[in-house]
Amino acid sequence: MRRKILIIILLLTIKFSVIAENLIDYVNPLMGTESTFSFSHGNTYPAVAVPWGVNFWSPQTGENRSGWMYAYTDTIIRGFKQTHQPSPWINDYAVLSVMPLSGELKISHKERGVSFLHDNEEAHPYLYSVKMDNGVRVSMVPTRSSSIIEVEYPSLEGQYFVIDAQHGGCKVEIDQMRRRVTGYVKNHNGGVPANFTSYYVMEFSHPIAEKGVAINDSLFAGRNVGEHDRVCGYLRFIVPEGERLTVRVSSSFISAQQAQLNFDREVRHKTFNEVKEDAISQWNELLGRVVVEDEDLEAKKTFYSCLYRVLLFPREFYEYDAEGKPYYYSPYDGEIHEGYMYTDNGFWDTFRAVHPLFTLLYPEVSERVMQSLVNVYEESGFLPEWASPGHRGCMIGNNSLSLIADAYVKGIRDFDAEKALEAMVHQTETQGEPLSVGRNGYKEYMLLGYVPYPDYYEATAKTLEYAYADWCLSTFASALGKADIASDYKSTSYNYENVFDKSYGFMRGKTRKGDWVFPFAPEEWGGPFTEGSSWHYTWSVMHDVEGLSKLMGGHENMTFMLDSMFAAPPIYNYGTYGFVIHEIAEMVALNMGQYAHGNQPVQHAAYLYDYTLSPWKTQYHVRNIMNRLYNPTPDGYCGDEDNGQTSAWYVFSAMGFYPVCPGRAEYAMGSPLFDKVTLNMPSGKTFVVSALNNKTDNVYINSAKLNGKKYTKNYINHFDLTSGGELKFEMTDKPNLKRGVEIEDAPKSMTEIKK
Ligand code: CA
Repeated sequence: MRRKILIIILLLTIKFSVIAENLIDYVNPLMGTESTFSFSHGNTYPAVAVPWGVNFWSPQTGENRSGWMYAYTDTIIRGFKQTHQPSPWINDYAVLSVMPLSGELKISHKERGVSFLHDNEEAHPYLYSVKMDNGVRVSMVPTRSSSIIEVEYPSLEGQYFVIDAQHGGCKVEIDQMRRRVTGYVKNHNGGVPANFTSYYVMEFSHPIAEKGVAINDSLFAGRNVGEHDRVCGYLRFIVPEGERLTVRVSSSFISAQQAQLNFDREVRHKTFNEVKEDAISQWNELLGRVVVEDEDLEAKKTFYSCLYRVLLFPREFYEYDAEGKPYYYSPYDGEIHEGYMYTDNGFWDTFRAVHPLFTLLYPEVSERVMQSLVNVYEESGFLPEWASPGHRGCMIGNNSLSLIADAYVKGIRDFDAEKALEAMVHQTETQGEPLSVGRNGYKEYMLLGYVPYPDYYEATAKTLEYAYADWCLSTFASALGKADIASDYKSTSYNYENVFDKSYGFMRGKTRKGDWVFPFAPEEWGGPFTEGSSWHYTWSVMHDVEGLSKLMGGHENMTFMLDSMFAAPPIYNYGTYGFVIHEIAEMVALNMGQYAHGNQPVQHAAYLYDYTLSPWKTQYHVRNIMNRLYNPTPDGYCGDEDNGQTSAWYVFSAMGFYPVCPGRAEYAMGSPLFDKVTLNMPSGKTFVVSALNNKTDNVYINSAKLNGKKYTKNYINHFDLTSGGELKFEMTDKPNLKRGVEIEDAPKSMTEIKK
């Protein structure tokens, strides 16, 4: 009996130690911040936020309006800003900056910058703290819509606090008696109706000794209110030595009243530490849906830093009313609506792995995103493709269709599926404004079976993405019992065949007359392709890899083409871009042939060997990519991170599988990175992936068992994961050429594999 109790205690201790691990400590928000316009190591910034928060906060080293708000190589801080930026290329909106100063008052962002050292900086998702070279320390912690900022001044002299309400229309109103500043900001970079506004409220722990505003560049000392195109406010405090100035700030896209409600609910009665601890527990709970056990500390840091990035976007754009019901200001029609709204996402990037990760581990988020998509259709007439906060003219394709089909086939049902189907069909039958919504070139696509070049820019990339979207729509319609729609779209999902040139073995631009665009070089970027070359887009037949293989002349030829992509020299022709875009520079730098992991279209390609029944080549390449192209450091990504996508690639790949074809409930198998990974599904089920003999050189799968039974397939079904169980790998340093080579081991394609 005593022995039994001892064992139970021992087991409890083990279990507790796993749960009690502070996974958030592995996250480095500075991963990817060492980036510039011409070369991206991620183009990220250290977002201080709770998962999917309405507002993020970040230190600001760049000038106002610069997409590079925080660059690791910068040496001065100009402010601490409320941000919503999903990418420097899309830029920000509803920005509000603050900057404490010591000594002389300098209001403009061009003048107020203070130097700092990274040694004096601490960055976590739940806390950013820096002691700048002037002795001022700033620390901030996040809630959903708010932040608490603490300031320590080095002396009593000139304890200033600047509030920069930016450009584009704003208001700063100082209430000296109540130690409050309220107002609004309207700055944006497109994608908003005319009434777009973010209302803010700020309260201070200490009395305001002096105040004033700067309107455009004119200073008005003593004045309480500034309302103009560009306004800054400034305050001076006399915070006694040993005390800290505490600033509580909230905002709302709905109204000033809602901003006050967010303030009262989230920060008014909370201490800095309470907010910090609450943010930590929110992160730990969500990061804890995947528990990694391994001795490789660096890889664990990379893994959780990546998972943090996946859990930032799309942003929750909804707020909670006094009764706690979700509602939102619509960036589409400018009205207030009940329900959910998400934004700051480019589906061209995130359909690939971010949203599939939600359907697997965060289905409650998937469900709300689906409702949000239907809402966007009702408010704007189109599904979103790149939203920030409303429709933005960026990238191509109808990848919203992928999100919906993928969620539905994986069991996400709590949304208006009939309305979604209507929206999906509509998305394929017309062109919207901006060009990224609807289907650019839809008439020709229907008539010719492809989008002609040069009539439409990036025409072949569009054809390929539309064909995949048509398959997604067909799959979804079929699941809803709409056989006619399913059959129509299934037939057009073969349209990828129309842009494949068998004489070269590559996808290629085609003219309206039906001639191939001449001359052709697979290493030429742009033109009929999007931010890539034919080397990258030739693989964009996610739904019918077997059909693509047939076009290429069979598995052997396709394997050879994949080998060639990794082996060819990284030469390039910048084509229609006219200069070396950063994606080209990154491909050359990573030195993996023509494989360009720094951009999204090719990110599934290493998994295609699973389909050609040479899975050991997938295992080799995905492990190589994980090891060589990711680090938990400021230069840790090999190109734009992009709203969680490049991170989600790593998260999936490290777990040992990847969603090559969202919309189909299965994952292609890779090479598990860790000794053990436990997926804690919110349903309460767990799935364990373990890998015996997993070492740096042991990248190959020798054998596998699913729930104790021999498993030879190069894929795993979604429901095998969600119903719980265990996948046990045995790893080796030599490819097992006999495993995963039978026809039934290949992941599914639209075209059936035949002997
Ligand atoms: Ca990209």
